[in-house]
Amino acid sequence: MPLSAAASAREILVRLHDVMAARTPAQAKLNQVVQIIGEAIGSEVCSIYLLREGVLELFATRGLAEEAVHVTRLAVGEGLVGTIARDMEVLNLDEAAAHPDFVYRPETGEDRFHSFAGVPIVRRERAVGVLAVQHVDPRRYADVEIEALQTVAMVLSELIANAGLIDKRGAADRPQPTTASRLTGQKLVDGMAAGYAVFHQPRIVVEQTVADDTEAERHRVYAAFDKMREQIDRMTREAEFGVGGEHEEVLETYKMFAYDEGWQRRINEAIDSGLTAEAAIERVQQRTRQRMRQIDDPLLADRMHDLEDLSNRLLRTVAGQLGTAAQLGLRQDTILIARNLGPAELLEYDRRRLKGVVLEEGSLTAHVTIVARAMGVPVLGRVRDVRREVADGDLLLLDVGEGAAFVRPSAAMEEAFEAKQKLRQQRKAAFARLRDVPPVTLDGHRVMLMVNAGLRDDVAALDATGADGIGLFRTEFQFLVSATLPQRERQQRLYREVLEQAGDRPVTFRTVDIGGDKALPYLHVEAGDEENPAMGWRALRVALERDGLMKAQARALLEAAAGRTLRVMFPMVSEPWEFDEAKALFERQRAWLSDRGRRLPVEVQYGAMLEVPALAEQLDVLLPRIQFLSIGTNDLTQFLFAADRANPKLAERYDWLSPSILRFVRRVAGEARAAGVPVAVCGEMGGRPLEAMALIGVGVDRLSITPAAVGPLKAMVRSVDRAELVACLDRLLAVPERSLRAGLSAWAAERGVELN
Ligand code: PEP
Ligand code: MG
Repeated sequence: MPLSAAASAREILVRLHDVMAARTPAQAKLNQVVQIIGEAIGSEVCSIYLLREGVLELFATRGLAEEAVHVTRLAVGEGLVGTIARDMEVLNLDEAAAHPDFVYRPETGEDRFHSFAGVPIVRRERAVGVLAVQHVDPRRYADVEIEALQTVAMVLSELIANAGLIDKRGAADRPQPTTASRLTGQKLVDGMAAGYAVFHQPRIVVEQTVADDTEAERHRVYAAFDKMREQIDRMTREAEFGVGGEHEEVLETYKMFAYDEGWQRRINEAIDSGLTAEAAIERVQQRTRQRMRQIDDPLLADRMHDLEDLSNRLLRTVAGQLGTAAQLGLRQDTILIARNLGPAELLEYDRRRLKGVVLEEGSLTAHVTIVARAMGVPVLGRVRDVRREVADGDLLLLDVGEGAAFVRPSAAMEEAFEAKQKLRQQRKAAFARLRDVPPVTLDGHRVMLMVNAGLRDDVAALDATGADGIGLFRTEFQFLVSATLPQRERQQRLYREVLEQAGDRPVTFRTVDIGGDKALPYLHVEAGDEENPAMGWRALRVALERDGLMKAQARALLEAAAGRTLRVMFPMVSEPWEFDEAKALFERQRAWLSDRGRRLPVEVQYGAMLEVPALAEQLDVLLPRIQFLSIGTNDLTQFLFAADRANPKLAERYDWLSPSILRFVRRVAGEARAAGVPVAVCGEMGGRPLEAMALIGVGVDRLSITPAAVGPLKAMVRSVDRAELVACLDRLLAVPERSLRAGLSAWAAERGVELN
């Protein structure tokens, strides 16, 4: 065929435009379509197979025997047509019968035809049918003809969707076992959950494929490109504050593609062929996907994701649908799918319907993980290709403990999942029975188990778990969930409610730790550009400089704790003078309130977090000034190892059970003990039984952990002999291995320590 791809597709689309617009029944339209395509590309046969009840049925043909229509049926995966639907790949063969998957159907009378080409008809990333052409002469179809067929297949998907011909079960829901799949990833927040897949950034289903006015479509694409470039530029600026979940590296690639002339040109060509802006973007994307599938290079595959994201963004821009799934609202039990998320983005979701999260990236101590843990939402991270393997609305079973997500599960998978879930609930119930028993080691040592909290609802965990108190209340969560800076009254109300609910159990409020990946949209302007926000202007550094923020919080805390003991802890203290200044600020507010006759706490206890290694060198200076110390192992680890806590590439590189961390903690705990200052660990590390055991073994006897870990930790504590454990750690740390994980696990197994 001597025409360009755009021209040949255009010729067909011009004729299809009238067919689509006519008020004739769908079957009549399909009959016309096969005629038009057959004529346009000079092919003796043109056939449309559509999926009905999970089977591909010949719906219309030009050239094959009429009697075969609605008679010839092929399973997905059967014959050439079934193979195309299963693999969603094009077949272009000069000798059809030579292909290993060829099956002959005598009723069609197709034995005269040698060449065969077929393309999948795709809807919502599922094959819903196949468009095929056949020819007597053994010839391969030219690329432009295949292109034209693919463009037409897009239009057909619209036609059959509008005519209600889409098989509701869809190719993917067919009962064959091949449809279910198991994706693996990293355990970020343990748990099991079932729900339907929802994309954080919803995908657009192209509703109109054939353009009424090509020029108008071209302008829509230009405008969308401009808008998208603006967004990317803004996101790049924002990334440094970690508002969204995107990494700078990803944004760099976005930027490269967003300004890529070639991409825009290809979309323009697709518009020239008669497609709408949306269909043109989708068409180019399909073509790229197909090309990339043939290249086996992980680096390129990553870039492919970036282009997919951007293409999706462009689609949403052109369709004017930029909201996230949270803004659209969840309608049923949901497993959220995203490349990555910021903590504030996650908090926007309805907690009653959000059952689980699957991330393509993510790491154990990123704040989105911590927030999800606080919300009790299981998270599976670092699941490669999740956005390719899962379609919107797919049923998903999440078993984070196994590091697995089951997509479109088979009945057997569902059964096994339910049985396991039941077992898990029984175990949970067993832990719940430990609620009122104290965490005391076999040799009589009482360990304090407290919970981490940040949202009002978290406080209920105190009663549910029987924890000793709240060892870390992350006050910045209230700031993260608000669209605007929470005023003092709102802060005070939250703190008072938390204290009232906690009753006589201690609550340690940490003053706001914002910055890093906990940036606030409304504080942008003040933060300025930062290359390295985790080590930048965050936490106490912001609070001491912008002291209006800290003053308001100090007053809110002091008034909320009237008549009680207030425990205040400062984050990211790097040098003792920072603690002094923060405490002085609080004390000035206390005096100010007192001068005005306000009711005040009976006592204020001040503590510091040890997250910056430098502080360990000045413990002799700091310890006499503080009433308690809490080691934040999330930040401490990232600074000790110089390894970004949110970087997925480093997520598994350094072990919490590395000698460096344990020796460091042992030394700090020893000095604090000698100075008579209680020391706790409040990082995520403490919530894992084996890690918690190691911490107790290096002298930590207070842990503040995620509520779900209280039961398992009580069981661990009650089954271990502390003196033996300390001796074990001393021994293992004297001549350490790369990690103490294996040694400690073996020791625990030998002694029957419960590590569930
Ligand atoms: C920590 O760094 O360990 C910690 C508890 O604080 P956050 O995770 O909120 O930074
Ligand atoms: Mg921290």
